[in-house]
Amino acid sequence: MSLVIVGSVAFDTIETPGARRERIVGGSCTYSALAASFFTRPGIVAVVGEDFPKTTADFLKKRGVDLKGLTVVPGGKTFFWEGRYGDDPNQRDTVRLDLNVFRDFQPTLPPSYRAPDILFLANISPGLQEHVLAQVKRPRLVAMDTIRHYIETEPEALDRVLRKTDICFANDEEARLMTNEGNLIRAGRRLLERGPRLVVLKKGEHGAFVFGRDSLFGIMAHPCEGVVDPTGAGDSFAGAFLGYLDRVGNFRASSIRRAAVYGSVLASFTIEDFGIERFKTMKPADVEARFAALKKLVSV
Ligand code: AMP
Repeated sequence: MSLVIVGSVAFDTIETPGARRERIVGGSCTYSALAASFFTRPGIVAVVGEDFPKTTADFLKKRGVDLKGLTVVPGGKTFFWEGRYGDDPNQRDTVRLDLNVFRDFQPTLPPSYRAPDILFLANISPGLQEHVLAQVKRPRLVAMDTIRHYIETEPEALDRVLRKTDICFANDEEARLMTNEGNLIRAGRRLLERGPRLVVLKKGEHGAFVFGRDSLFGIMAHPCEGVVDPTGAGDSFAGAFLGYLDRVGNFRASSIRRAAVYGSVLASFTIEDFGIERFKTMKPADVEARFAALKKLVSV
């Protein structure tokens, strides 16, 4: 099996009620690839400027992330995003967004990325998601994620991507915006009517739902007392979910359920520190221990 991820690699400035961090490494592709790397060796399609730290590229490589599809633009500036959280970690505002090198990025995929088993169109412009989708031979599974910004600015392109998608990841706010439906269960069902076979609705600290045409599965979030930085939780969830499916090599209902629990586990680690810091300290055994704890928590 193989997993290719397209998305943002970024500098983020993050403000929470208790702290502020300037220009730390983030991005949807970065978080999802690092989470997936606990299960498989993902390849990434993204672009950075010359300002991107070599130490981060080295860390990604060390975690088994393949960087053949990462373009470095000489003299270019890396994508920048600034977000601010209030007291509710599930709510945030985008303070600033500079596309920089992503503005005109039209990648040509390396030959070894053109027939992935799983393609993850992580949060980035739907136009770029389509551009990548057009270059791959029909993967066994296509997954996508997006964000309020693209739901509001590029709804038609987003709908075209959704039609070609097998799994759609969204948080509760995004699902409501995409469907104009206040009730989350109805929003999940509505999304299923627009293409995907599965819709994964993340509810932050309240866990997630996996909707299928004839099924519904609920997952708890790990009970975390100290959320340091909620950024990247959604991307980590999706990266682990797809990384796990890539490792097991099948999409059976039982694998999907386990994938969702691993998604929840990786998301719970990400939010324990700023940016991608927690990925530097956690070990595969920690992931398994938390998986077991989560299972125990919901068993009768
Ligand atoms: P998450 O918290 O999982 O929704 O993802 C947060 C990451 O998304 C941050 O690290 C940002 O760099 C990245 N991000 C924020 N806005 C955008 C955008 N419009 N396009 C692509 N990536 C973005």
